[in-house]
Amino acid sequence: MVKREGCALVTGGSRGIGAATAQALAAEGWPVAVLSRGGGNGVGDLHLAADVTDAAAVDAAFALAERELGPVLVLVNNAGVRADGLAPSLADDEWNTVLDTNLSAAFRLTRRALRPMLRARYGRIVNVASIVGLRANPGQSNYAAAKAGLIAMTKTVAAEVARKGITVNAVAPGYIATDMTTDVIEAAAGLVPARRAGTPDEVAACIRFLASDEASYVTGSTLVVDGGLTA
Ligand code: NDP
Repeated sequence: MVKREGCALVTGGSRGIGAATAQALAAEGWPVAVLSRGGGNGVGDLHLAADVTDAAAVDAAFALAERELGPVLVLVNNAGVRADGLAPSLADDEWNTVLDTNLSAAFRLTRRALRPMLRARYGRIVNVASIVGLRANPGQSNYAAAKAGLIAMTKTVAAEVARKGITVNAVAPGYIATDMTTDVIEAAAGLVPARRAGTPDEVAACIRFLASDEASYVTGSTLVVDGGLTA
């Protein structure tokens, strides 16, 4: 296994897609720090308890990861929440929480990670977006805005740092069976050409590729992982 000179940080790594990603990156030889509100106790070499919307707490957690595991050379912005409602009845706090968690926090972590990556002239950032950032899903205007924003941010930051050996990409999952989708997954699976929901491991495999050395010429892209739903 390759000896790594730094570590990977996965937000929302305590369960679901994030936990599968932490496992996949560990299999690539990365020491992995996982960050979530609860901290978690599963996969990962370091468990950080912080709310991604709390800038100071995230900063402290990031610094701890650097101290314990070395520079963060792979960042996976995966923490996310949904708070659905049709636009006429969507409350300000539902809008703000979803934008803060899924988009603004990812920007702050990206900004924090970039300086050391620039120094190392190496970095991999993978943002977990959604097909809802690419096409309509009634009841999710807040989530759609956040995920579309994440995709746009991915492209722009990718272009800013491409010449420095840093790639920035996104994945856009469709329906994946996790805690986030227990209420919709059964009904949704029938709509998918693959006739089933995806698994966290199937998304993690794509993130693992985008975070790999082999993906060095892939940047600014969004890899759709949806069993053909948006094909
Ligand atoms: P889960 O609900 O299973 O897991 C969410 C993770 O994010 C948990 O580890 C949770 O930990 C953490 N998290 C949530 N809010 C915060 C916060 N404010 N601060 C820190 N950590 C937080 O979700 P999924 O695995 O399904 O989703 C992961 C990502 O994939 C999300 O960005 C989601 O939008 C995206 N996605 C998911 C799809 C699906 O079908 N499941 C489809 C498309 C995209 P804790 O509760 O301890 O904080």
